[in-house]
Amino acid sequence: MSLSIPTLQFTDFVVFLTCGVVFVSCWLLHRERTHHLLFGSSFLICAGMSIGFVDFGRYGSVWSPLGWSAAGMLFWVGLRLFDQRSALTTFMMVIAIVPVATHVLLGLVGFDEESVNTGSTIAYAAHEAAMAIYVLSTSRGRSPIRKVIGLSLLAISAALCLPLVPQTILPQEVPIVLIFVVDHVSSILLTTAILALEADRAIVALARQALRDPLTQVLNRAGLVAQTQQIIGSAGVIVVDLDHFKRVNDGHGHTAGDHVLESFVRRTEVLLPTGAHIARVGGEEFVMVLPGAERAETAVFAERLRRSIGVRPIDWNGIQIGISVSAGVAVALGGADIAAAVDRADKALYLAKTSGRNQVRVA
Ligand code: GH3
Ligand code: MG
Ligand code: MG
Repeated sequence: MSLSIPTLQFTDFVVFLTCGVVFVSCWLLHRERTHHLLFGSSFLICAGMSIGFVDFGRYGSVWSPLGWSAAGMLFWVGLRLFDQRSALTTFMMVIAIVPVATHVLLGLVGFDEESVNTGSTIAYAAHEAAMAIYVLSTSRGRSPIRKVIGLSLLAISAALCLPLVPQTILPQEVPIVLIFVVDHVSSILLTTAILALEADRAIVALARQALRDPLTQVLNRAGLVAQTQQIIGSAGVIVVDLDHFKRVNDGHGHTAGDHVLESFVRRTEVLLPTGAHIARVGGEEFVMVLPGAERAETAVFAERLRRSIGVRPIDWNGIQIGISVSAGVAVALGGADIAAAVDRADKALYLAKTSGRNQVRVA
């Protein structure tokens, strides 16, 4: 099978254009995702470059390193925004200028056209390699999808260096064919991998949300079940309810009430022993599970929490809002018994409420 350069040039154009259209369409759907526009623009510039500069590594115009560097830079900025980082670093700006600077300087010094082109192509290969190192070296670089992105960029960098191999080893046409093939494959891999990574992030975020309370960010009822069903051995269970919480809303407004709920949770988290769980199971009702804790230990913790909450009012925009809590304590015999223990603790809580509030009762 022989691959003619014009055919490869055409298919390269088609692949770049397709990837560009995919990202620009994604951006049109969610305009706040600027990284999609950057990836799309990068691929569209590549599409233009692929029909404008057929003979990679042998081109003569300064527009060539300028175009490829612009495409690489847009892609890198897109990756950084995707990672929720600042768009640019000084290093990125320097490495993006190097291919053009190399082209101009080598030309001024008097090198022939082929040397000028080789110099700027190698400088651009370094740009791609630096981007690959960024992708692979960040803390998220261990993800297999991210490895695909990093290795695709490395492959482009390596392919761009192929024209350096003496023609006695690689006939002149081989590097050009290989660059086109690597371009095709890496563009498809980069596009699918980035979209797959984004889908994966969305799924992880959704799964997290499904098990969390959106206001306080602690577990919700389903999250508590998921976290505690595997517990082996006994566990202390506390059900806590804020006393007269309706008065906070009525007196200071719902936003103040929300602030009180969040502050209560943050204060409780500081006190909770390592490995304990807290979940918001109702408006102002929370369940805590202390794996391994016996009845007395759990009751002591509940009492400590009650005192700590009651002793210091919550500051809301300079207004001091004093709150108290009532708690019911029970012990579960294992993960499977937690729901029943919550019921027992709930009954004890009811006793605490009917006995005057601001107290702990043990089932
Ligand atoms: P008790 O001591 O008997 O528990 O009295 P209470 O006022 O705390 O209990 P009640 O059940 O009468 O009222 C609970 C209030 O909690 C009513 C509701 O508006 C409020 N609430 C529920 N969820 C939220 C929330 O997410 N934010 C705010 N600000 N208020 C909430
Ligand atoms: Mg209440
Ligand atoms: Mg309640």
